[in-house]
Amino acid sequence: MKSHYRVVVIGGGVVGASVLYHLAKMGWSDVCLIERSVLTAGSSWHAAGGFHALNADPNIAQLQSYTIDLFDDIQEESGQNIGLHRTGGLTMAGTPDRWEWLQSAYRTFQSIGIHDCRLVTVEEALALNPIMSGDGLLGGMWADREGYIDTTGTVHAYAGAAKKRGATVIEHNRVLELNQTLQGWEVITEKGTINCEHVVNAAGLWAKQVGRMAGVELPVSPLNHHYLISDTIPQLEELDFEVPMTVDLEGFTYLRQDQKGVLLGIYEVNHQHWMMDGAPWEYGFELQQEDPDRIENELTMGFERYPCLQEVGVKTWVNGAFTFSPDGNPLVGPVPGKRGYWSACAVMAGFLQGGGVGKSLAEWMINGTPEADVYGMDVARYGIWAENKQYIKETTGQFYTRRFVMTYPNEQLPAGRPLKTAGAYADMSAAGCQWGRSWDLEVPLYFAEPGFVEAPSLKRSNAHEIVADECQAVRNGVGLLDISGFSRFEVSGPNAEKWLDRIMASKLPAPGRAKLAPMLAEDGRLKGDLTVFNWGDGTWWIMGSYYLRTWHMRWFDDHMMEGVTLRDLGEEMAGFSLAGPASLNVIEKLTDGPIADLKFMGCGSFDIGLLRCKVGRLSVAGERGYEVHCRAGDHAVLRRILLQAGADAGIREYGFNALLSLRLEKSFGIWNAEFTQGYTPGMTGMDRWIDWDKDFVGKSAAVAERDGNGPSQTLVTMEIDANGADASGFEPIWSDGVQVGFVTSGGFGHTVGKSLAMALVDPAHSRAGTEVSVHVVGVERQARIIAASPYDPDGKAMRG
Ligand SMILES: Cc1cc2nc3c(=O)[nH]c(=O)nc-3n(C[C@H](O)[C@H](O)[C@H](O)COP(=O)(O)OP(=O)(O)OC[C@H]3O[C@@H](n4cnc5c(N)ncnc54)[C@H](O)[C@@H]3O)c2cc1C
Repeated sequence: MKSHYRVVVIGGGVVGASVLYHLAKMGWSDVCLIERSVLTAGSSWHAAGGFHALNADPNIAQLQSYTIDLFDDIQEESGQNIGLHRTGGLTMAGTPDRWEWLQSAYRTFQSIGIHDCRLVTVEEALALNPIMSGDGLLGGMWADREGYIDTTGTVHAYAGAAKKRGATVIEHNRVLELNQTLQGWEVITEKGTINCEHVVNAAGLWAKQVGRMAGVELPVSPLNHHYLISDTIPQLEELDFEVPMTVDLEGFTYLRQDQKGVLLGIYEVNHQHWMMDGAPWEYGFELQQEDPDRIENELTMGFERYPCLQEVGVKTWVNGAFTFSPDGNPLVGPVPGKRGYWSACAVMAGFLQGGGVGKSLAEWMINGTPEADVYGMDVARYGIWAENKQYIKETTGQFYTRRFVMTYPNEQLPAGRPLKTAGAYADMSAAGCQWGRSWDLEVPLYFAEPGFVEAPSLKRSNAHEIVADECQAVRNGVGLLDISGFSRFEVSGPNAEKWLDRIMASKLPAPGRAKLAPMLAEDGRLKGDLTVFNWGDGTWWIMGSYYLRTWHMRWFDDHMMEGVTLRDLGEEMAGFSLAGPASLNVIEKLTDGPIADLKFMGCGSFDIGLLRCKVGRLSVAGERGYEVHCRAGDHAVLRRILLQAGADAGIREYGFNALLSLRLEKSFGIWNAEFTQGYTPGMTGMDRWIDWDKDFVGKSAAVAERDGNGPSQTLVTMEIDANGADASGFEPIWSDGVQVGFVTSGGFGHTVGKSLAMALVDPAHSRAGTEVSVHVVGVERQARIIAASPYDPDGKAMRG
């Protein structure tokens, strides 16, 4: 065994093998995979091997699509048969809402370039899968490329193809210990020690322990999962084709053909965790005892959906474990704070997602960033709070139970909540606050009368009018919003300004001023839509999206320089925002400081009642506004005094649902919608904040975009002739039957009385007045591009 490799991948399941393959394919052949037992000896050997395209996160759906296309390549490259059966796939809907959801999911697929799908009637579906009963079904979606593979063959194909490109696979060699060194990692194995620059945790069922070897507590847990393989089904013997991979969402089952029988997999509503601290080291090719009682309901539904199962016996039961993160998506990428330690864990559907995970991780390691926007599976989307075992148990359990349950966009799920609450939480709850979750924090959505319950809906919900009233209150008077859910980083030290000037693409604000600041990656794509504050005393703040705290901190750390002190103030600071024409009247009453002189985008420290606060004059609502930041412990007092001072002006508390509507009326983009790490400054209009005269991270790529042929897409605002439902994101936009773009976010503009959306469209269709159409909840609606900022286009209200 060699004593040095550039990369050591721990784990020879489908994920580790795919990572190895992609590293070798991209030119890093000094890489080795270490497997405790033999390849496939974790979850991989007993997987059902099915692959289908659907995923709620369009970026992950794209990576799944990549994996599906990779199967032929690895089979050919390795010469290893992977038992590829491209039977096509059906996803069936059994409730009216689900059928609507599936129709919009189909449109999302079109938006992201997956075109080999089509909607089918129940009759068509029954012709495609004749052993299925159509009872209760309303329609389905067909996908050409779906099917199943032989799991062991597939892992060996990845590993074989990697070996052909120079990679090494070492079996029967457990990794015992990991020690961080100056150059990377010392990997202590049963067969000796290896030094490497990078180590990848692809240890599947043992990911928890391999994380702990590096002092990392990954939010991952195994859960048990059942499938059965039936005896031969006479009906199938008579068919001259294989039945497609079929998912019955309302029945909690998936099915594929297995020789002349079928494999029926069950997503158990009554879920069961297994070995939350990781599988025992001696665990190998054994399975858990099947437990038909636990899955009786789902089994009954499955046997009713496929009546032929009632006539034949069960040949084999499989009850095995695989791993889940709290939101069910993988945990991929560089682990914050552990240089050279990479996660490729919690890959729930390794055969479906493993290719995309391997590709992204290899690109990340070799090029510094993955090609796709992989935020949805980035290990840095969680914070330290997600290390808690009870949190992991509740959230992974919730995900598993709801795997085939439809989640509505306005639905709030209870697991792991409430976790962190701001100081005024109890008072705000008493005032009727309905809460949502951002990362670990409870954030206000809107304020309702006692007993109000919002019905889950794909369309406008019964909270629509409440949110409308809150929007009007902000536009016409003054509103109060809890902004504890913004991130705040403090930058100080002798090189603070120099560092900020390098990582932000904009000019820095003068003392006592704030400025919008795009932050770019080296490849010129966006890394943040931030606001920088210069407090004038040598300290600066960076403000952004709260849920990106770890993600941004990892980026800042990776680009740090001597002489800079950076602190995440997320646990220390909280705040409220006053917005609306009467906001000055309210805040003026509470301070003898020169608050009335504070110009738009000005900032400073003020006494606010008894409290010492930092105040910035800006608002996401597009009104005159004051963001008031206080110590976390002062939050309840700050709320009380602001409400008291605003009583005469009819101050009204509002939530983020109203803010999202108000910002849409101003065409203000937000992260994860208009701005993502997949988009560039030119596409999104962020280029208008760039200071082209200075040097900054990502400049050469940004200049290349500016001086090239221009961006391929342009961010626009649209008005939709909607009917009871608004766009939400990823809906395709059409002109004369040709797709010309997609929605980035949408909603109702309550004070302009229009259904609005922001969208990326090809530049030829970006002019105001251009008529287009857009699918909203699966229905095509007329729409048109309008000038940006339908409310107060000149910005008079916010400049005051
Ligand atoms: C019943 C069932 C059905 C499934 N059906 C499907 C399906 O249809 N489609 C699909 O895509 N997915 C399916 N899955 C999920 C799939 O099995 C997993 O997503 C996948 O196997 C995960 O692969 P992995 O490489 O991450 O982990 P694993 O397969 O668990 O591999 C991890 C490997 O790491 C090794 N290892 C761990 N620690 C060490 C160490 N210290 N030193 C050296 N080696 C170590 C282990 O021995 C193991 O081989 C199913 C799972 C189950 C249980």
